[in-house]
Order: sequence, then structure tokens, then C-alpha cells
Amino acid sequence: MVIDRDHCLALDAGDPLRAFRDEFVLPQDVVYLVGNSLGAPPRRAAERVRRTVEDEWGRQLVGGWNHAGWYGQPLTTGDRLAPLIGAGPGQVVVGNTTSIAIYQAVAAALRLRPDRRVIVSDVRNFPTDHYMVQGLARLLGGYEVRDFAEGRFDDAAAVLLPEVDYRTGALYDVPSITARVQEAGALMVWDVCHSVGAMAVDVSEADFAVGCTYKYLNGGPGAPAFLYVNPRHHATAENVLSGWYSHAEPFAFETDYRPAEGIRRFAVSTPHVLSFAALEAALDVWERVPMDQVRTKSMALTSLFVDLIGDALELASPADAAARGSQVSFRHPDGYPVMRALIDRGVHGDFRAPDILRFGFAPLYIRYADVYDAAATLLEVLDKEHWRDERYTTRLAVT
Ligand SMILES: *Cc1c(COP(=O)(O)O)cnc(C)c1O
Repeated sequence: MVIDRDHCLALDAGDPLRAFRDEFVLPQDVVYLVGNSLGAPPRRAAERVRRTVEDEWGRQLVGGWNHAGWYGQPLTTGDRLAPLIGAGPGQVVVGNTTSIAIYQAVAAALRLRPDRRVIVSDVRNFPTDHYMVQGLARLLGGYEVRDFAEGRFDDAAAVLLPEVDYRTGALYDVPSITARVQEAGALMVWDVCHSVGAMAVDVSEADFAVGCTYKYLNGGPGAPAFLYVNPRHHATAENVLSGWYSHAEPFAFETDYRPAEGIRRFAVSTPHVLSFAALEAALDVWERVPMDQVRTKSMALTSLFVDLIGDALELASPADAAARGSQVSFRHPDGYPVMRALIDRGVHGDFRAPDILRFGFAPLYIRYADVYDAAATLLEVLDKEHWRDERYTTRLAVT
């Protein structure tokens, strides 16, 4: 079947999610396929941040901690976010960054399995996950960091995995891996950075889960991360980053640490209030989003892109849409200049070393016609070899 642009426009006209595009601000002349790295700004984000600066900070000053709800944000925002990962109220705390949440989750898991000295991590995982585990193992001493590919968990304390491989987009089977890890007596920590907001996520069987809010969730650059702790661990798990927000009575200013009850035990310290404001604007949108339709459209968008590119590039993602997240990756030995040439022509993807061209499809604001235009531009860059232009070879700091 030859897919033409009119066919894509017809798909857009029948898209049940099409009205959500108006909830986001996007430049006219850009096809933005990097929503898996930094989501587009919600239309109401600027107003929400302005309100926090002018009305809350500007008028209430320090009173904002009490009267504007700032103090409670790690938990109140956690409750709003919980449905997106299959969690309930009082199970998610928001703040800090994913790397920090990983440290807290893995350290807590190790303390819950003191007789075991193995941490299973995955060399395919986003490097910071692996680096945080390596740093924790170095600090504690006597721990082995084992690659997930070895498939052995019977002596592991904790297993940390991503739900989606950030390079290829390959999906991990959360329910079956979780069950296998827990049957072996280890604790399961999921990183859902690349799945939350792109599909229905359910970490309710996991022991811990972490994720960021600036990718598909559109919380903004530097938006706070989240940490899910299964309620069965609330009374026994330890927060090694025992900041005052996790104290039983922060404003008693006691000399000694006493952990709070419940999920607040995993807060660390003062929330990034301005970042929370932008995230709240994004959650106002997510509250109305049917996640089953997001996944259906996501699979249709990635399949369309794969079909349009055909064999012009080597597919690095699973060929079956059900086996990948909301991204498509291709390999090209000159991937970096190819991506630079493409971005110069208004189609934004990113490059992941050594040879991956990566395209993320955020179903709330990417249209079928955008996919068509992106594919046509990419095919032209390859066909005409625009990427051979010298100015595309110098590497920028962020690729
Ligand atoms: C994006 C991402 C991170 C980001 O970590 P930060 O601490 O926010 O810099 C971590 N892990 C995975 C799997 C990611 O995709």
C-alpha cells in the first residue's frame, strides 16, 4: 500500500485524541519527535508558573508554604500522579531527580535484604541508573553489580530495570519479570521514565518504582521525579537520604532522626515549588487523558513511521509495535550528521551514541501528517546526502 499525505490527514481527522494538541505550545514549522526526552510545554504552564510567582510567592511570601500548599506538594502531587503508574493515594512521593530516587529505592531494597550482596542492573539501561548503582555499591563495599542478561536473581537483593530500553525502545515485560525476581527473593525496582505518559503503566506489584516527569508527561525542563514505594514496605523500608521532610515531625526540629509514617518517609527536602507549578499544569491535562487511546495511537504512529522509512534505514527497534514503547530508532554509521541535517530541516529527533537515530512520538500532540512529513524529510536527507555537509559534523554538548 502506498501511504500518501491525504491518508494521514484523514487519520488525523478521525483521531479521538486530536483536541489534546491544542493543550500544548509548539512552534509552527517544527515536527517535534523528542517528546520522549523533553515534552512540549502545556499551554497553561506559563500562566500556572506566573500565578505561583506573582500571586503565591509575591503576595503570600513565606506564608505560601502553608497557604499555597507548597509544603504538602511532594505528597499531593504524588497522589495526582499515582493513577498514571497504577498506584494509589499515599504511595508516590514527588521531588528531586530520577537518579536520586534510584539511589533511595535501591538503597532501601538492599537494607531490606541485608543477607544478600548482589545488585542486578542492566547494561542497556540509561547510564545514570547504572552509575547510581555502581556508586552505591562502592560506598557500601562488598557488593557485586551483576548484569541482568546473566538472568540470575537467587542471591540478589535488588533488581533495577527500565520498562523501555532508551536506545531501541524495546519493552520489558513488567508483570512476568517482577514475578520472577520476587520468586527468587529479590526486590524489584522499575524505572518507568520512558513509559509513563506513553502507555498505561502498572508498577503496583513492584517493590519500588521511579520515573521522571519531563519526558512524555510534559512537566518541563528539570521537573521533579517520582518514587513509588509499595505499601508493604512503608513501615520497614529505610530512606538513606534522611532529610528533614522525611522526619516524623520536621517542625519539632529534634536533634535525632525519627522517620515519618507512610510515603512521607521517602521525601527528602524542600520541594522545587516553581517546577511543581509547571508539572501541575501538565497533570491538569493528564487527568483527562484516556491512556488506552494513547497506547493505540502511539502504536499506530510508530508503525506508520517504520512503514514510511521502509528499508531506507536499519531498524533498531522491535518490528512489532506491541514490543516497543512510543519510539522508533534506526541505525546509521553517520547518525550524528544525519540527525543534525534533519533538525536543520525542522524535524527534531535525537542521536544516541554510537549510531542510533531516535524518534519519540508523543500521542497527545503528534499528528499522523507530522509523521508523514518527518519521514519524507528524513528520506530526502538520506537520498540527497544532505548530511555530508561539513557543518553537521561538529558535536554539540547535548545530542
Ligand atoms: C531520562 C532518564 C533518567 C534521567 O535521570 P535524571 O536524574 O532526571 O537526570 C534516568 N533513567 C532513565 C531510564 C531515563 O530514561
